[in-house]
Amino acid sequence: MYRFAPSPTGDLHIGNLRAAIFNYICAKQNNSDFILRIEDTDKARNIPEKIDEIQEILRLFGLEWQHYYVQSENLKFHRQMALKLLSEKKAFACFCTEEELSKKKEEAKKANKAYRYDGKCENLADIEVLENEKPFVIRLKKPENDMIFEDFIKGTLKFSPKDIDSFVIMRVDKTPTYNFACAVDDMLEGVSCVIRGEDHVSNTPKQEHIRASLGYDKKMTYAHLPIILNENGLKMSKREAHSSVKWLLDEGILPAAIANYLILLGNKTPVEIFDINEALQWFDLKKVSKAPAKFDMKKLLQINREHIKRLDDESLCKALAYEKELKKEYATLAKFYTQESSTIKEIKEKLDLIFTKQAFSEFKDEISLLSKLLKDYDFASEYEDFKKDLMQKSGLKGKNFFMPLRLLLTNSTHGPDLNELYALLKPFLKDIIKEKNVS
Ligand code: GLU
Repeated sequence: MYRFAPSPTGDLHIGNLRAAIFNYICAKQNNSDFILRIEDTDKARNIPEKIDEIQEILRLFGLEWQHYYVQSENLKFHRQMALKLLSEKKAFACFCTEEELSKKKEEAKKANKAYRYDGKCENLADIEVLENEKPFVIRLKKPENDMIFEDFIKGTLKFSPKDIDSFVIMRVDKTPTYNFACAVDDMLEGVSCVIRGEDHVSNTPKQEHIRASLGYDKKMTYAHLPIILNENGLKMSKREAHSSVKWLLDEGILPAAIANYLILLGNKTPVEIFDINEALQWFDLKKVSKAPAKFDMKKLLQINREHIKRLDDESLCKALAYEKELKKEYATLAKFYTQESSTIKEIKEKLDLIFTKQAFSEFKDEISLLSKLLKDYDFASEYEDFKKDLMQKSGLKGKNFFMPLRLLLTNSTHGPDLNELYALLKPFLKDIIKEKNVS
């Protein structure tokens, strides 16, 4: 069983989407189910609308899930499990206040030592606990032995009891901490492999220890994915626009291109351009490099151009919001524009420009003349003949001919080769001239 467990606290980060894609692929390859679990236990940071957005994005990428859970609905189980650990004396109530703890943290810092919980409340007698009316958290006693686990990407990982420490599993408000909720849910939902970002590596021994303390002995396998660095080699923060999947989609990058890029990143793949279904045939989690991967927007854009070319006419017109006749011709024209534009947004701007009426500031007279000559033109001939004919009729030459012609046809002073463009614009020329008729 595989799962993707996003927290709805902001835009979906590409690092998280990468984990979702890998989980989905591995679930498919292993004929296993895939869970979407919304980790909404951090009430202060939750943004409810983000839940729908995450679902929409996953659907857009074709990452279908078979089971859906909302973590906060499992609260009763989290509480039951915490009570079980308390009654078995594997966990204990801790009455230390924030102030006391921060003072001790401060002291450890001054002494240049790593802070560890000092065990103050660990051995309180039952009666002392019962009679204490102060608020308390529940801490799980640290393990006695090293915790060792295998990671598909990082190899064997070992943590000592002092690294794990006696950590908090239930907060003062009787809600579970991330580690506790996550470990319990993974156990209850029968998750057998956890694929997530490497920022969670230090949580893994804690989660293993929680499950072991609850008497769960089913083996869990792990893959911690290297972080994605920005173009300056720093960790890509959630605040960087490029890191938001929604931002990339809004820019006109196709889901298939983003998925392709995220699978390719720090990986050895047999081909460079593919979609998720194709990747199912050869994807191997063990081949993902453990070195951090650097986000390269140029590469993503290049991949996007290839995916635009791969789209069928119908889908491309839909992406471009083109609803009229001549879909095939329009899609061909759009694909032609990938030579100078890399996103759906840019291509749409270019194509929309061709079909809009604009006031010209340069070559006004020439454009007016050409548009008059082309008003009832049949556009039957090839470009060379068309050009010769129009030059002769207008008496214009060189730049004074080509610039106004380009402006009239595309509303732009530069762009693809007119010779090639003319052939593709042909089915639309009557409309274009009608629209632009400046005379
Ligand atoms: N909610 C955590 C996150 O979004 C999930 C981590 C995990 O997969 O266990 O980072």
